[in-house]
Amino acid sequence: MKESPSMLSPEKQEQLQENQPVPENDSGKQNRNILSVVFSETDFAKRLSELVIEPLPDDYQPSYKNDFKLVDNNKVNEHQLLKLYHDISHIPLLDEQEMHDIIPYPDITFDFLNNNHCLPISWNADHTVMAVASPYNLGNFALLWKNLYDADIEFLLSRSAFIKRYIDELYDKPEDEKEVNWEGSNEQTLRDLAKEAPIVRLVNDIFTRAEESGTSDIHIEPNENDVTVRFRVDGMLKVILRQPKSQYAAIASRIKLLAGMNIAERRLPQDGRIELAHATSPIDVRVSTVPCMHGESIVLRLLEKDSAVFDLEKVGLDPDIKEQLTQLFNMPHGMILMVGPTGSGKTTTLYCIMNILNTEFRKIITIEDPVEYQLEGLTQIHVKAKIGLTFANGLRAIVRQDPDVILVGEIRDRETAEIAIHAALTGHLVLSTLHTNDAAGAISRLVEMGVESFLISSALLGVASQRLVRRICPVCHGSGKISSDKEGETKRCRNCMGSGYRGRVALFELMLIDNELRKAINEHKDTNDITEIARHNGMRTLKEDGDIKVKQKLTTQSEVTRVCKMDIDLGE
Ligand SMILES: [Zn+2]
Repeated sequence: MKESPSMLSPEKQEQLQENQPVPENDSGKQNRNILSVVFSETDFAKRLSELVIEPLPDDYQPSYKNDFKLVDNNKVNEHQLLKLYHDISHIPLLDEQEMHDIIPYPDITFDFLNNNHCLPISWNADHTVMAVASPYNLGNFALLWKNLYDADIEFLLSRSAFIKRYIDELYDKPEDEKEVNWEGSNEQTLRDLAKEAPIVRLVNDIFTRAEESGTSDIHIEPNENDVTVRFRVDGMLKVILRQPKSQYAAIASRIKLLAGMNIAERRLPQDGRIELAHATSPIDVRVSTVPCMHGESIVLRLLEKDSAVFDLEKVGLDPDIKEQLTQLFNMPHGMILMVGPTGSGKTTTLYCIMNILNTEFRKIITIEDPVEYQLEGLTQIHVKAKIGLTFANGLRAIVRQDPDVILVGEIRDRETAEIAIHAALTGHLVLSTLHTNDAAGAISRLVEMGVESFLISSALLGVASQRLVRRICPVCHGSGKISSDKEGETKRCRNCMGSGYRGRVALFELMLIDNELRKAINEHKDTNDITEIARHNGMRTLKEDGDIKVKQKLTTQSEVTRVCKMDIDLGE
C-alpha cells in the first residue's frame, strides 16, 4: 500500500493507531449472525488431537497462536491445519494459482494486516474478499470491518506464508524493521534470527511447497538486492519466490541450523543434512553452501527415503525392455553397467533393481560417493578418499565380505574397473555406472581406462543407457490449460502448473552382450560397429525409444530432441 497512514480519515487512523490484533472474545459467538461462519473450537480440537503425531500439550486451547506453535514445532503441517480449519468452518480454501494481480487495499496499514494475518484479495464499495490464515474471531473481524469500511466481508482460508508474502510486497513496512547485515552479524544474532517465527514458517513453507511440487532441488540464491528461491521440478528450474535481501541472513541461518552446519562460518563451503520426518514419507535433505558474491548460495537436494520410491514400474520402461532387464539382473554373476550423464536417473534405476534384489537370501554391499539413498537390508559404504577409503580399496574389502551382489557407485579408474570385473568373474553380480552417452560407448571407455578386452567381453552381461524426458500431463494432455466451469473459458492446469508436463519417463537403450558382441569386443571393434551389431540384434537406441514414447503420447518430440541434443553437446 503506497499511501501513508496520514492519508486515512481521522477515525480510521485512531482505530488503526494501536496496530493491535482484533481482540479475542469467546470465539465470537454473539457475532455469528453477521456472517455464516460457524467454527466449533471443540470439534476442531478433537479432530486436531487425532491428526497430530504426539498428544496435544495439556495447556492447549484452540487459537491462532497455539495452532501455529504446533506448526512451528513440526507437530502438524500447515496444509493439514488449513484443511482441518476448512472441514470444521466450511470457509473455502483460496486457490493460490488463481491469484495474480492483487491490488493493495486503500486505507489500511501494514501492521493491521500483519497482526491479523489477513490480506484483502479483491473488493468493491460494499464487499471485501479477505484471505485469512485461521478461522478464529472472524465474527469480531467482520464486525470491525463493517465499522471501519462499511463493507461486508467474505473469507477465504490461505497459508500464512502466502498472506505474509503479499503483505510484505504490497504494503509499506514501518521503518523500524531491522535490517541484518550478513557479513557483520555475530553467531548469537544469527541464531536468534533463525528462530524467529516468520522465518521458521517461511522455511517450513518452502519445504512443504517443494514436497508438493515434486521438487528435486531447492536453490536459495542471494543477489545484490533480493533472495531468489528456485525449485527444480522434472529437471527444469523455476523461480518460486523472491524475498527481500533483509531476510537473507535469517533464511540462510535457519537452514544452516537445521542442517547442523556452522552458522558463523560464511567463507568456506559446507555441507549438511536435514531429515524432514514430517512429510508423507520421510525425506532426506542434502544441504550444500558455497560462498559467492552476495552471501552463500544454498542448494538443498531432496531425497525420498521411502523404498516405495524405487519402483521399477515407475521408471516407465516398455514391457519388453523391462523383461530383458529383469533377466539380466537375475543372473547369478557378471557385470551390468548403467550409463548416461548426471541427472539421467541411472542411480534411481539401479536402486529400483536393488530394491527387487533386496531379500534376506542375498547379501548386497554397495560402495558409493556419496551414499545417496539408504535402503534397509543393504550394507552401504561411503567412499572417503581423504582417509584412503577409495572405490578400489573399498571394493577389495567388499569381496572378502561374501557378497552376492555388489553395487559400485561409479567406475572412474582402471583399478576400480579391474577389481569390479574380477568380482564379476568370480561369482558376484556387480552393478555400476559409467559416464558415457550410449551403451556401446561403455566398452570403449573401459578400454581407454586400460582394461583388457577379453576381461570386458567375459564379464559384461549388458549395458543400459538412460535419459529422462518430461511426461505429458495426464490431466490437460500437455496443453497446460483445462476448460473452466464457464463455457468457452480455460484456466491453468493445476496438476502441471501450466507447463503441460508432470513427472518424467525414462528413455532406455539396453545392449545385451551376446556371442556376436563378445567377439566384436575381443576384436577391438569401435563404438559405431558395436552399435550396429547390437541394433542388428534387436537393440533399440535412445532416440528410437523416444520416438515410440512420442507416438504413445507419453512425451513430446521436443523433449526427445532436447535430451538427444544434450548428447551432442556432451561429446564423447
Ligand atoms: Zn496439466
